[in-house]
Amino acid sequence: MILKIILPVLLSGIFNLAFSGSMHLVKVKATNKQQRSKIANVAHLETINSKFVTAIVNDHDLKVLKKKFGSKLKIEDSFAVHQHKGKKRPGGGGDEYEFPKGDEKFHTYDEVIADLKNLAEKNKKNVKSFIIGKSIEGRDLMGVKITAGGFSKESKKPAMMLIGTHHAREHLSTEIPLMLAEYFVKKIKTDSAFKSMMENRVVYIVPLLNPDGALHDIQGKKYKMWRKNRRKNKGTDRIGVDLNRNYSYRWGQGGSSKSPGSDVYMGTKPFSEPETKAVKKFIEEHSNIKTMISFHTFSELILYPWGGTYDPVGGQEEKVFKKMATTMAKWNGYKPQQSSDLYVATGDTCDWAFAEHNIFCFTFELTPSSMWSGGFYPGAKVIDSTFKDNIKPVSYLLKYTDDVYKVLK
Ligand SMILES: [Zn+2]
Repeated sequence: MILKIILPVLLSGIFNLAFSGSMHLVKVKATNKQQRSKIANVAHLETINSKFVTAIVNDHDLKVLKKKFGSKLKIEDSFAVHQHKGKKRPGGGGDEYEFPKGDEKFHTYDEVIADLKNLAEKNKKNVKSFIIGKSIEGRDLMGVKITAGGFSKESKKPAMMLIGTHHAREHLSTEIPLMLAEYFVKKIKTDSAFKSMMENRVVYIVPLLNPDGALHDIQGKKYKMWRKNRRKNKGTDRIGVDLNRNYSYRWGQGGSSKSPGSDVYMGTKPFSEPETKAVKKFIEEHSNIKTMISFHTFSELILYPWGGTYDPVGGQEEKVFKKMATTMAKWNGYKPQQSSDLYVATGDTCDWAFAEHNIFCFTFELTPSSMWSGGFYPGAKVIDSTFKDNIKPVSYLLKYTDDVYKVLK
């Protein structure tokens, strides 16, 4: 009932009606993680409780869901969305690539790049910009590194990495790491204790890993609820790979789809995408990275490995993950849990980072808590409060980056 009333209001502000495809809000009965995992093989789940899940799915995924879960499935609503197919977008700028009215505070790709360059330019002692690779449409994937006491011993300093926006429509997940970059730089200058800690730390921040998708999502100043990158898949007009299903660890073993039309399409092989390949290369070249956060939206969760199996990671490592997640959650009020408690999903960043590089990696699902409080498009009003909520959790992770096992003492 609530859905029926709220959804049209919620969505009418988001989507225009120039028809070229549809998205559907569906509700599927599922009472445990095993049942949820079966649904997650087809679609990305948005809301989860003990009775059902909801998902916003495209036409392709709806068809598959109907086939597999017909009797358990209910379509709550359908709505038209614009799809711009395959056209390469020159640069990142222009009026067409601005956020919808009221949300201009969010950073476009050009604005992210300008801010990162500016931060490095004005703080040469403490900040350097770098490029980890190019997106599928050829945009630079830019980040900044932040330290105190110079970069000559960078490779010996324990490092934390922050990555934002694997998923195009999760724009808040660009803002938070970007604001954290500015925050850490300022803090080095104003807080001597922090500065002295940063003499033995590096922070690597890549706030926008999927610029093509993020720009597509706002093209024409209308949100499109786009999730994937903008790969033109061979032999089909279906666009995009789910970057957070494209990492190699347990790739393709659940919670992702082999079908290019799916919103959780895993790609043709692990690291088939330039965006994930760039992360892989950067991390391989920086063995000083010990901790990491991959920012996503939404649900207000702190997730830790494994996501690809119900098994826990075990040993001291599991204790560290739990202790860190529950401590960080005290500050931001999010729910800490093992990723697969929601449902199994393979090929994500954190499982790979931990399995292959022993990096203590957390997925933060940022504000809001549900679709009914804004979902992927909560509005610019949440940016500042979400940032404030996450300063302490991220600073805590940074503090223990030199030796995460210290949290057990
Ligand atoms: Zn995401």
